[in-house]
Amino acid sequence: MAITNKKYYLFSVDLEDVRDMIDNGMQYKEAVVSNTQKYLAWLSKHKFKATFFVVGRTAQAFPSLIKEIADSGHEIALHSHNHVHITKLTPEQFKADITANINAIQKAGVATVKGFRAPTFSLVEQSKWAYKILRNAGIEYSSSVIPNTNPLFGWQNFGGEQMVDGVYEIPMNIGNKPFSVPFGGGVYFRFLPWLISKRLFKNTAKKQQPVLGYFHPYDINTEQERFMHPHLNNNKLLNKLMYINRSKVFNRLDRVIDLGFEVVRYDDYYRMQTE
Ligand SMILES: [Zn+2]
Repeated sequence: MAITNKKYYLFSVDLEDVRDMIDNGMQYKEAVVSNTQKYLAWLSKHKFKATFFVVGRTAQAFPSLIKEIADSGHEIALHSHNHVHITKLTPEQFKADITANINAIQKAGVATVKGFRAPTFSLVEQSKWAYKILRNAGIEYSSSVIPNTNPLFGWQNFGGEQMVDGVYEIPMNIGNKPFSVPFGGGVYFRFLPWLISKRLFKNTAKKQQPVLGYFHPYDINTEQERFMHPHLNNNKLLNKLMYINRSKVFNRLDRVIDLGFEVVRYDDYYRMQTE
């Protein structure tokens, strides 16, 4: 594995429509396009190229958005077609889901995809069979594992970046105890006080590892109606956290860049690591 002295932030957007995942979700306001464009504007401000892991159904609903992202020089990768956890699928169902995901992205005008992120990081030891299916579908890298125990999905003792059945897995970063969570993105990035996040970012760079960031359109949607989010087992406290500090995301992202971090596309990072 190549070692780098650069501070890489593997910022990415998991491009999905949260309304698709809840009952009667379509009664809420569409917020995917405008919030994705805010991420695009932030990336453009810093002249960075990043990776967008796209749900197939979302690509079907907003094909011109997917084309716009790709035309701006960003990477389009897979985030499943229906956003169903891999652990709930048979290998045959997973294969069909990935095929549908690739087709939806190709229909939107993006010819090739190399990467994959599992819905809610649901690639765990029991769903390890997914790697072979990904490889056979032409996928070269994945970023789908939380290498620790976690309230939702985790693969304890997974370790660091490695090849699994022909697919290069780039797992999430976990902070030191008591912050042993994937701090670089999503609700953890919003919830942890900046001084703690800053220390976790710096410690990771010291270990010559990239920090992985995963954001969603809803992470910055300050106008979203209150509803119970999916995948939280109806937990009201967790749901409250889903709304915390959404207005602070871009300010904090700028601070990450001020620390000397540079955003790169996952496929470029994967190439550097495996060349
Ligand atoms: Zn997702």
